[in-house]
Amino acid sequence: MGSDGRMHPWGRGDRGAAVADVQAVLQGLGLLPPADDAGRPADEAVFDEATELAVRHFQQVRGLSVDGRVGEETYRAMGEARWSLGDRLLHYDPERPVRGDDVIGLQERLLELGYDAGPADGIFGPGTEAGLRAFQRDYGLTADGTCGPGTLRALRQLGRKVTGGRPQLLRQSASFVESGPHLIGRRIVVDPGHGGNDLGYTAGETTEADLVFDLASRIEGRLAAAGATVYLTRGRDQSPSVAERTAFANQARADLMISLHLDAHGSEHARGVAAFYYGTGSGASSTVGEQFANLARREVVARTGLLDLGSHPKTWDLLRLTSMPAVRLDCGYLSHPVDRLLLLDARLRGHVAQAVLAAVQRLFLPAEADPPTGTLTLPAKA
Ligand SMILES: [Zn+2]
Repeated sequence: MGSDGRMHPWGRGDRGAAVADVQAVLQGLGLLPPADDAGRPADEAVFDEATELAVRHFQQVRGLSVDGRVGEETYRAMGEARWSLGDRLLHYDPERPVRGDDVIGLQERLLELGYDAGPADGIFGPGTEAGLRAFQRDYGLTADGTCGPGTLRALRQLGRKVTGGRPQLLRQSASFVESGPHLIGRRIVVDPGHGGNDLGYTAGETTEADLVFDLASRIEGRLAAAGATVYLTRGRDQSPSVAERTAFANQARADLMISLHLDAHGSEHARGVAAFYYGTGSGASSTVGEQFANLARREVVARTGLLDLGSHPKTWDLLRLTSMPAVRLDCGYLSHPVDRLLLLDARLRGHVAQAVLAAVQRLFLPAEADPPTGTLTLPAKA
């Protein structure tokens, strides 16, 4: 399932002032034509087919799960999409970090100019402030960490110093390589999706929540045996929110987070394994996340015979709010008869765990020592 959002989502047939708000944002973005019923009170606005189409379009271009409904994640993304660079003063507020498309605009500009402003994630954090102050100092501006009219003017006047370098991504890769080849001292968070009353997808007695918990436990065992320090985000009967899961991983100062889900689809033909890493359509992404998504997916495919559905950039909160590379792996379709049979087989789940261990080891091994997919069998204790 795409989102664990807690807000009751708005969808087709809902009406009221909140729907009018959603429509106003979509109109502002040019995704929905202006209403021809001007003068009608806002609380009579109806979430109609055109609204749903516009929401789907919005979700598509923002890398969100496309369901045509406005849940927590989509609602927040809409709030952030209202802003473009120059609309307001931007500065670091530790209590309520400023979020929005204008922040992404600032971060991307700083990164283009060669300043380390952290990931271009649309959240004005301490990294953004440090990058902004460094820029202000270099260009003789007051280094107050606030992006106001003077700073904006300077940012706009400067030519592009760095072209195509994506310096923040290079930095991320470099610090990753420096931290060494083996798993001792690595902190890895494994996140089984759903849990507690949230069963995820179900097929008869089988629930996504139980199966991914079993997978997570197997992965935990193998990683721990290889020397890593492993944390699970939940127990068997707990169902933390996405915010709790990401906060947990951040507090654990994890080097890597692996989130596990299964899929289901109305069509019984849908099957296979997909991986997701943080990335926006405009090119900002987590290099290490993408690399691990590819390694994990290919290892799972090579060792299980599940169909390969590729790796995809997403801006899901789980991937975006984590400060370490985070990857979500969707390990097969519970709605597909063969995938389901495979997933119910404990040996296959063991192969998936072995595949994830191999992918983690490959991620931390130097490139020249990297063995071909499906072949790595390091001894449990390196
Ligand atoms: Zn799920």
